[in-house]
Amino acid sequence: MVVVEAKSVSFNYGSESVIKNVTLNAFPGEVLVVIGPNGAGKTTLIKLLANIIKPSSGKIEFDGVDLRLMSKDEVTRIVSYSPQDNVIPSILTVYEVVLLGRIPHLSWRIGKNDLKITEGVLKELGLEAYAKKYAGQLSGGERQMILIAQALVREPRLLLLDEPVSNLDIRNQLEILDLIKRITKQRKITTITILHDLNLAVRYADKVAILNDGSIFAYGNPEEVLTPETLSCVYGVEAEVVRNNNSIQIIPIRALEK
Ligand code: ADP
Repeated sequence: MVVVEAKSVSFNYGSESVIKNVTLNAFPGEVLVVIGPNGAGKTTLIKLLANIIKPSSGKIEFDGVDLRLMSKDEVTRIVSYSPQDNVIPSILTVYEVVLLGRIPHLSWRIGKNDLKITEGVLKELGLEAYAKKYAGQLSGGERQMILIAQALVREPRLLLLDEPVSNLDIRNQLEILDLIKRITKQRKITTITILHDLNLAVRYADKVAILNDGSIFAYGNPEEVLTPETLSCVYGVEAEVVRNNNSIQIIPIRALEK
């Protein structure tokens, strides 16, 4: 029942090898969180999974089918990708921005079903009151929520998010990640997201992939892979990992000398 699978995927920007022999998979109903230091290749990996760039070697399969054999339309109907630098035109209303997510499904005009799905997602995310507001009038947290709504109206089976909670306060971070987790379980979709905050990764990930210099350094349950040794090797920090019940909390202590 694997939805997405990267098999020995490598990718180069010119002569620079950015992704090196990455193998991972993710299942329906699962949140896979990709973490790693700046420049490790996280965004590049998400772009490969979104079919925006193609592997230099290895392959990415969706339900056992090589992404390269699928048409662009097929892929965009299955996969929703919300990039880090997603820009929302401030002159559009929230309703219009969310409806834009339906583009891959539209024929030459918007159908009743597209409007119904848009309204359903706005309701599900508690955004009905915002529908007529202009995007330019929203706070950072509200804008992020709208981008997630836009990704969801596409009714993806694979949701790819690049740092969906960066620049948000802690309440908004929890609200948005709670929502992502809930939707992933309820709709039985697969979500792969980049997060920077390791404690948020522990809290929301079913599985964590730690990227370091383009390679998978560790991959599995957050409690298993996030150890003081890993944090020291990958991030160059001394950290305490406190175990309580079935979870862990990461307390950074100091940056180690290079
Ligand atoms: P991360 O998301 O982990 O911070 P990225 O995937 O953005 O890492 O970048 C990984 C490496 O690829 C970095 O060394 C970066 O400079 C390089 N890189 C990213 N995008 C491009 C590009 N468009 N052209 C050339 N090099 C790039």
